[in-house]
Amino acid sequence: MTPDATALSARLLAWYDRERRELPWRAPPGVAADPYAVWISEVMLQQTTVAAVTPYFQAFLARWPRLQDLAAADLDEVLHAWQGLGYYSRARNLHACARLLVAEHEGRFPAAEDDLRALPGIGAYTAAAIAAIAFGQQAAPVDGNVIRVIARLYALDEPLPRARQRIESLAKALTPARRPGDFAQALMDLGATVCAPRQPRCPACPWHQACAARAQGQAEAFPVRPPATIKPLRLGVAFWLVRSDGAVLLRRRPERGLLGGMMEVPSTPWRTEPWPLAEALALAPVAGVSWQPLPGLVSHTFTHFTLELAVVAARVGVPAADAGVWIRPRDFAAQALPSVMKKVVRLAQAAPVTGRKRPAR
Ligand code: SF4
Repeated sequence: MTPDATALSARLLAWYDRERRELPWRAPPGVAADPYAVWISEVMLQQTTVAAVTPYFQAFLARWPRLQDLAAADLDEVLHAWQGLGYYSRARNLHACARLLVAEHEGRFPAAEDDLRALPGIGAYTAAAIAAIAFGQQAAPVDGNVIRVIARLYALDEPLPRARQRIESLAKALTPARRPGDFAQALMDLGATVCAPRQPRCPACPWHQACAARAQGQAEAFPVRPPATIKPLRLGVAFWLVRSDGAVLLRRRPERGLLGGMMEVPSTPWRTEPWPLAEALALAPVAGVSWQPLPGLVSHTFTHFTLELAVVAARVGVPAADAGVWIRPRDFAAQALPSVMKKVVRLAQAAPVTGRKRPAR
């Protein structure tokens, strides 16, 4: 029989008091958490591990220690500091949210979950995390770790994502009125350190006795996943154009949409049909140059599709047509280039262009 919520939450909090992880964004026991640090860390931690986030978080807070500092920063600087974390819309939203809070909320976060959700880039999970951890509200942030722990605790046989709503209400029912922020962090720690996706350490778990999946001897069978779906494939051709002084043509992506506002090596649109070379070259950013297909392909997986980019390369003389910005590869580190474009750079640099030099028209 599953113990009641009060007993379960008390057991988990007692475990947390002994086993809590020391994290750079986590306030010491008994000290109020800083909403700004909680917000930055929770946004960074979406889709990313603690180990990967830690140096980014420390660098971010050293550079912009307060909400006001982030609001005053240039968006390009923020995107650049975000490089490597992926999902750049999160960085854009952080910046927009900081500006909005400073302009309209006297630089303070609201405490209520609903008010937090109304801010740019703050979804249900982040709003609940900030409300619980920074403001002591009885909110239940539910991420992948929490889903796993709750699905196992109750051996929920309904597959995801259908089971999500039930998991959220079970997590909420377990959340105590006292120390809800510690409870939320305890649940996160339990999922990260004990109730791992593979080989959970059930004997070390404070919910060992109550856990239905453990009792069935099938912890790893939960949460139940829907049948795997194959991501659609999109195809494109990227244009690696080198000027005679070594600079390479880059351009900025539109502000809205995938990788919004990031820099890129120009390319054709990304579509499901293959690109015949002649059709792709008709869309080249500069006409009148001799394009050379490079060996290999760049493959990159986004949330909703996989992209394969062929790369063609050419050289142009100076001056060249004004089709973007010309940047020397040694200065790429200062550009907000997303991972997929870094792969294009690596492929192109591994295959130096040997084509003729001919000025662009
Ligand atoms: Fe996870 Fe095992 Fe604890 Fe159940 S007993 S919550 S499966 S670690």
